Amino acid sequence: MPDSDKRGHDQTSAREEILSGTYVSDLTHFLDSSGKISGRAPMEVREMAGFLVLILDKVTIHFPDTVSGMGTGVRCRSVNCNGEIMGALEGMDSPVMWSCPVCGHNGTISNWRDSQWDNTGIGGNP
Ligand SMILES: [Zn+2]
Repeated sequence: MPDSDKRGHDQTSAREEILSGTYVSDLTHFLDSSGKISGRAPMEVREMAGFLVLILDKVTIHFPDTVSGMGTGVRCRSVNCNGEIMGALEGMDSPVMWSCPVCGHNGTISNWRDSQWDNTGIGGNP
């Protein structure tokens, strides 16, 4: 099998695994030691991080009304897709799940607790 169409993937510092179409992301891999999105990461990685934290911000502020999913208002990243990303969170120890109902782009975000986008302590939650 020629691998000429694989390019650049080993240059990303964030270890993002893509398993059967699902983006499995660990938030901490996108952050520097102060908990901000790493400014030294490649543009593509920072864009992905920005997309993930927008979802996190929206989903965690609505937790626990997020078990069955909710619209996040975040636009899908897929080329030529205008879908709105749906987010879901089942529990404080669960990864945040997201998906695009239009193109099927989807993934999970783990290790989001206590990040600056964790809003679960705001709005009456313990
Ligand atoms: Zn989409």
